[in-house]
Amino acid sequence: MKIYQGKGVVGGIAIGRIVVLKENLAQNNPQSTLSSTEELDRFKVAKAQAIEEINALYQKALREVGEEEAMIFEVHSMMLEDLDFNEFIEGKITQGSNALEAISEAKEYFSTLFAQMDDEYMKERSADIVDIANRVLKILSGVKDREVLEPSIILADDLSPSQTLQMQRDNFLALVTRYGSMNSHTAILARTMGIPACIQMHFDESVDGEVAILDGESGRLYVNPSEEILEEFRAKREQIVKEQSQLQDYKGKPTITKEGKKIMLYANIGNLEDAKSALQNDAEGIGLFRSEFLYLQKSTYPTEQEQFEAYKEVLELMGERKVVIRTLDIGADKRIDYFDLDIEENPALGYRAIRICLDREEIFKTQLRALYRASVYGKLSVMFPMITSLWEIVEIKKILVDVREELEREGVEYADFELGVMIETPASALIAEDLAKEVDFFSIGTNDLTQYTLALDRQNPKLEKFLDPHHPALLKLFEMVVEAGHKNQCWVGICGELAGDLSMTQKLLKIGFDEFSVSPKSILGLRKTILSMQ
Ligand code: PEP
Ligand code: MG
Repeated sequence: MKIYQGKGVVGGIAIGRIVVLKENLAQNNPQSTLSSTEELDRFKVAKAQAIEEINALYQKALREVGEEEAMIFEVHSMMLEDLDFNEFIEGKITQGSNALEAISEAKEYFSTLFAQMDDEYMKERSADIVDIANRVLKILSGVKDREVLEPSIILADDLSPSQTLQMQRDNFLALVTRYGSMNSHTAILARTMGIPACIQMHFDESVDGEVAILDGESGRLYVNPSEEILEEFRAKREQIVKEQSQLQDYKGKPTITKEGKKIMLYANIGNLEDAKSALQNDAEGIGLFRSEFLYLQKSTYPTEQEQFEAYKEVLELMGERKVVIRTLDIGADKRIDYFDLDIEENPALGYRAIRICLDREEIFKTQLRALYRASVYGKLSVMFPMITSLWEIVEIKKILVDVREELEREGVEYADFELGVMIETPASALIAEDLAKEVDFFSIGTNDLTQYTLALDRQNPKLEKFLDPHHPALLKLFEMVVEAGHKNQCWVGICGELAGDLSMTQKLLKIGFDEFSVSPKSILGLRKTILSMQ
């Protein structure tokens, strides 16, 4: 047996044969006997066929996985028509390259160019360049992708959206890639499909065809496991399936503690798809909609209309259930090129979140207008990240008045919404009494509160052994915030990762939290834990 270690991105256990997918390109590139004009024609015909295929994939994606995943094929279509890309290829052909060579060179040039960009979104487009160029190359050389004929554990360098969509999804037991990040297509796809997945695993291609176990939790791949190990993991897999089906019994049950207190059991989301998952898992509301995801997906500022539509869709979907939208939390680890942020020595302590919004008011106002316009479509609450001082909330409220007056002048309909402060800095926890007089609720972001209280960079894996999310200093801050909130009629929630840590549930309930907001898949498990504490 051989064990490979990667980084688990979606938990669960898969047992099956391995299929290693490789990019199958024409190996030999024979000297062309065609003229430049004929090579140009060959390129144009292949490009037209590639666009047809991409359009068909767009329609397929729309039917099978929804608009968001389908969007990538719109991007592919646009990239293939891009003037610079085409001029580069046509120029090379005119200078004597054949079509295959010219496209290969364009692939190399543009993918490197994108990969070197700072912006995460643009960086990820490098894989798309490779994807579209490979499609045209395959058409020109008549090469077909390998088909996956039976349910298998798929291993690849990185999976392109085209590859994943063209294949029979039922045949994916698990996904493993050599490259990729938490937000790579592979990770997103695996999450949507609910199959175990792992990234950054340095496997050997010779494992193709072997029987293996993938444990998405630990990020381990066991190739050629002994019968004993297989038995152990079959039992684990059965246990997971059993637990998941037992959790279904908790759908529709109110979340009430043994003292009879009703807990608001909400979900953390980043987009509409997550909101659907939240509903499927019977979330009683949305406790954290990370609105910056709308900005991260774009190559320029999302317009007021785009934001309005995104918020409206989630509000309408959730109906009577509360939706807490957090205003833009950009900066630190979430960098966006078009914001043109300076490189900082200490970005976590720098220009981020509400600081950007209060400094660049036009960005903030656009978001607030979109939120007000969407407010009539559901039960909206809005909260502000990274607050450290009372004046910030006072300033925000002034801007809110300006925005409302503007909308009134324009005759635009809006509703009032609850206002909240995210408690993510020790300063905000220490002045919670004052803040509570200004707002309707608090939500503790334990990820940042832990980082700032313990002075430990949340991004640095080397610090893991120092990072104690149960540190008594944090518990003291929680107690202070809950007490200050309740004294001033504010409800108090918790929305960082700690909210889903079942070993802490009892303590957090005792401290007096009114709301827990966790990932959609953790909802039912947490409800079960709360109800079983009777
Ligand atoms: C937090 O800091 O706990 C939080 C929920 O916000 P984010 O993880 O998005 O910074
Ligand atoms: Mg945070």
